[in-house]
Amino acid sequence: MTEYKKPLPKPTPWSKPFWDACKKHEFVIQKCKDCQKSTFFPKLFCPHCLSSNLEWVKASGRGKIYSYTIVHSYAPTEFANDTPYIVGVIDLEEGVRIMSNVVECAPEAVKCDMAVEVVFDDVTEEVTLPKFRPLP
Ligand SMILES: [Zn+2]
Repeated sequence: MTEYKKPLPKPTPWSKPFWDACKKHEFVIQKCKDCQKSTFFPKLFCPHCLSSNLEWVKASGRGKIYSYTIVHSYAPTEFANDTPYIVGVIDLEEGVRIMSNVVECAPEAVKCDMAVEVVFDDVTEEVTLPKFRPLP
């Protein structure tokens, strides 16, 4: 594996289960055992009822693009060779949002409400990043 020079996530104690799941190519989110609502990004408390009674549950990994931008220029140095690339905000089926790259999609083909699914990019031996590609 060639050296990966882009920024990497620095898991916190409460986000580590998410990154550990990604490494296993599983997509998980937190669900509150008290109010039953889902939440993402990883948190210590439920943003809906402030309970700390959160559990990790397997999520579908499917959703729709809520919004996106196509980066053509002025990308951070580490990403300059990747332009043009798509940064999307994805509404997951579980009712939470995630920002990630949209991959396997030509920049001119991306659209709001496009159905997408998670794919896992093993960028280093330790870190796997969740990205999203169009559903066929
Ligand atoms: Zn709650």
